[in-house]
Amino acid sequence: MSDASPTPRTRVRRLPNRAAYDAATTHVILDEGLVCHIGFVHEGQPFVLPTTYARVGDALVVHGSAASRMLRGLRDGIPVCVTVTLLDGLVLARSAFHHSMNYRSVVILGTATEVTDAVERLSALEAIVEHVNPGRWAEVRPPNGRELKATMVLRVPLAEASAKVRTGPPLDDAEDLGWPCWAGEVPLRVVAQPPVADGAVPDGAVAPNGRRHA
Ligand SMILES: Cc1cc2nc3c(=O)[nH]c(=O)nc-3n(C[C@H](O)[C@H](O)[C@H](O)COP(=O)(O)OP(=O)(O)OC[C@H]3O[C@@H](n4cnc5c(N)ncnc54)[C@H](O)[C@@H]3O)c2cc1C
Repeated sequence: MSDASPTPRTRVRRLPNRAAYDAATTHVILDEGLVCHIGFVHEGQPFVLPTTYARVGDALVVHGSAASRMLRGLRDGIPVCVTVTLLDGLVLARSAFHHSMNYRSVVILGTATEVTDAVERLSALEAIVEHVNPGRWAEVRPPNGRELKATMVLRVPLAEASAKVRTGPPLDDAEDLGWPCWAGEVPLRVVAQPPVADGAVPDGAVAPNGRRHA
């Protein structure tokens, strides 16, 4: 899929024809995803925690409570693995063995650093809001000093990353093609439902249009 080179740690071993290591492929997947899973080891116990993120150039930015165990640990330089998965479909084969899923996923390895510069921090927070809800930053109250103090922002470089993509129908064995059951793909996608206003929305306030998931 791609000529860009993996590192020894990011080389996909199973079905390597589904792998890509170039920035263009990884960026598209990261820009479409909404949730990443952050893996790290704390006192010998692995944790994998879901969180929001945004891509800013050649890095991911994540944020959270300054008291967060995960963020404090990552700030101190423990190794991190960040995964983003887009589920594109269910793949129903004629054999149980060949059932699969169509997906696009990215795995990032590295260490995080805290974003401490005030301008960069605000820019990262804007990126996270805009990544999830394009156009929202200009509409809402910006963070105040207390909120900024309570928030930690981390940057994870995309220097060591891999993507893996599966598309297409099931890959049944030839001898199973006559098996009398349905086989094929069930496409999946995230679709926004009509927005539900809370009780304090003033007259005239414009609801989001689901532009991210249209
Ligand atoms: C929705 C979904 C469902 C899946 N279901 C299964 C399943 O049921 N069984 C199964 O065995 N596998 C499944 N996979 C694939 C799985 O993610 C791994 O790719 C695979 O199990 C291990 O490959 P490997 O031995 O080459 O990886 P490893 O040798 O363990 O990994 C080496 C390196 O390859 C890269 N890599 C591995 N997998 C991925 C990935 N998915 N995306 C990006 N980079 C990757 C990473 O950089 C990793 O460090 C699924 C993937 C997705 C996204």
